Amino acid sequence: MNESIAYYQGKPEHLAKWDRVRERLRNAYGEAIFKSWLQPLKLADVKNGQVMVTVPTRFMREWILSHYVDNILRFWCQEDQTIHSVDIFVKAEPVMASPQPQQGVPANIEAAMLNAANEDKPLNPDTISAPLDPRYTFDNFVVGKPNELAHAAARRVAESPSVTPGCNPLFIYGGVGLGKTHLMHAIAWHIRRTDPARKVVYLSAEKFMYLFIRALRTKETMTFKEYFRSVDVLMVDDVQFIAGKESTQEEFFHTFNALVDQNKQLIISADRSPSDIEGMEERVRSRLGWGLVADIHTTSYELRLGILQSKLEKMPHVHVPARVLEFLAHKITSNVRELEGALNRVVAHATLVGTPVTLESTQEVLYDILRANDRRITIEDIQKKVSAHYNIKVSDMHSARRSVAIARPRQVAMYLAKKLTTKSLPEIGRKFGGKDHTTVMHAVKRIDEICKADQEFADDVELLMRMLQSAA
Ligand code: ADP
Ligand code: MG
Repeated sequence: MNESIAYYQGKPEHLAKWDRVRERLRNAYGEAIFKSWLQPLKLADVKNGQVMVTVPTRFMREWILSHYVDNILRFWCQEDQTIHSVDIFVKAEPVMASPQPQQGVPANIEAAMLNAANEDKPLNPDTISAPLDPRYTFDNFVVGKPNELAHAAARRVAESPSVTPGCNPLFIYGGVGLGKTHLMHAIAWHIRRTDPARKVVYLSAEKFMYLFIRALRTKETMTFKEYFRSVDVLMVDDVQFIAGKESTQEEFFHTFNALVDQNKQLIISADRSPSDIEGMEERVRSRLGWGLVADIHTTSYELRLGILQSKLEKMPHVHVPARVLEFLAHKITSNVRELEGALNRVVAHATLVGTPVTLESTQEVLYDILRANDRRITIEDIQKKVSAHYNIKVSDMHSARRSVAIARPRQVAMYLAKKLTTKSLPEIGRKFGGKDHTTVMHAVKRIDEICKADQEFADDVELLMRMLQSAA
């Protein structure tokens, strides 16, 4: 990557903007994520509407591109409307007298993780288990068809005094915001209350990996192993994160085998089934599927309505008409987190402004969310429609051909993908034959420019957009 970029020493106004962008990121993602992934970002330069930042490793760059770059760009645009792209470069930090990466640990991941550890405190057993959210209990979990299996399994494991036969490990999987973490916390709360002597540990796979790598560095792997093997119930959330990280997988697998052999209970979650986790070693994968694999399906209308009613019961002093709840349950179908967020926003608005909640106020307050949920247009639909419209082959959408007759429609399709779907720039790039997110950013900007200059072209794009929207 570009080694010539020095840390930014330029205009103070850019640094001030960068500070504010960072503050917003910190608010948006919370302290833990900010420290691990966003704090290491350094501003390198701001030029011609382009923001350049550096990160210490390739791994971090990829992670940030797939998780945070959209919001980084968005926050920059709020500070400075001339900004149209954010580029991330890898620039190794000067290495301080730190030991060489240990055998078997991919250097880039180690570096990323080490960087996240600002200080090298020794392994502290008290902080290994993550705090539990007091709201995530069985009492607060609304059961419906889509989650009844996962819920029943979680209950059984929670209520059983030792390992639950046939349920070890219990593997819960489902899309984001469907209640996996909630169920895991609920199990932990239940056991803590009914059997406080059992040692229950809950942590994310990301943290597991981080602790393991740090233990390697501080030569505390024995403590690490002993600690994990001393727990009675181990819960690891979002294990898809471990996929592809060989050495962590290896350690996870050993820990996991040791626990199962010692008749300890394991509960694992992921966003997809064991067989769909790519980059997971076969023996790990098959062992993950040995116990009970329970999936949580996407929500149904009834479940969504039930969840809204249950949330509302816990908010005294607010009246939300039934038709508003029905409207929300009908419209916000993506996931429970968004559904909750929508209800909170409606209620907060009404409380702040001091007006009753109505269907009209709801539609107004949730304008952006409703629009996003209305759009169920896929990138494939867009590629098909646009290719047909410009009379090119759909396969040209994935090609690298640069002639304007091909490249321009491709840019239009990328532009529409950005406007009409909720996909991130890197995701869009991937769907167009593995292009970089900057290519997509450039396309969006270019089409905007041409639309401003050329009315006929703008009408064309507008027409395509309407056709796609009405077909969805
Ligand atoms: P995941 O871990 O699957 O991404 P979470 O467990 O974090 O999802 O759930 C997202 C939000 O939705 C949480 O606030 C959670 O309490 C809520 N939620 C999800 N499913 C239910 C449910 N069945 N009943 C009540 N709340 C739920
Ligand atoms: Mg979760």
